[in-house]
Amino acid sequence: MAGLAVAPAAHSQTATRRRSPARQLPLVVLDPGHGGTDPGAIGAEGTQEKRITLPLALELKRRLEHGGRCRVAMTRTRDVFVPLARRVQLARDREAALLLSIHADASPPGHAALRGASVYTMSETATDAVAAAIARRENRADQAGGLRLPSVSPEVQRILLSLMRQETRAGSERLARLTVNALDGQVILLNQPLRRAQFVVLKAPDVPAALVECGFLSNRQDEALLRRADHRAKLAASLAEAVHGFIGARSVA
Ligand SMILES: [Zn+2]
Repeated sequence: MAGLAVAPAAHSQTATRRRSPARQLPLVVLDPGHGGTDPGAIGAEGTQEKRITLPLALELKRRLEHGGRCRVAMTRTRDVFVPLARRVQLARDREAALLLSIHADASPPGHAALRGASVYTMSETATDAVAAAIARRENRADQAGGLRLPSVSPEVQRILLSLMRQETRAGSERLARLTVNALDGQVILLNQPLRRAQFVVLKAPDVPAALVECGFLSNRQDEALLRRADHRAKLAASLAEAVHGFIGARSVA
């Protein structure tokens, strides 16, 4: 679905031919968190989140392209700042089958022992205070880059979302479940790894989306693991399995 936009009739045939949807593989958008002026979370040993998310996403891209079952687009392929809204818009403009946002967090104050991976879907209501605090920090990425989201009144935003989001929400929940299942047994998971919070990057009403926090950089053991290419390869393999499960189920439906 492409939101509420309707192409003029005179152009519809051309557009259909150009996209040839029947023969085209589904598009997966990978979103390595942060970048450029926004380093993201800073680890106990000083590791910057943006330097973990990019190589992990590139490894996942390589695996997905090798699988030959989807096309892959990235919201960034270099150390550059990309506003959250532009990341979402890329997935919407290209009618992506899914968006997977990749992050590694630092725990809020008072939760220093937290470690393990977790997977978030969008919700207006956070699972708990930790989930809410994590979403607040991720959403601050835009301020770090000196940009703001376009101002739409919260009421209008809520009405539009409630209309379009229902089907997308079911897809997002399925994607998140598949992701947790694929990670389970491969890497340490946070307690209650399937979580919800209000992430800007998950707000597309028409693209199923999930956000993976691959571990806590604030935890020395997690930080050491996330710095290792073999651990990131293990994460990427699990995420590829989840993506393949999602687009496989989707093409049957
Ligand atoms: Zn992040």
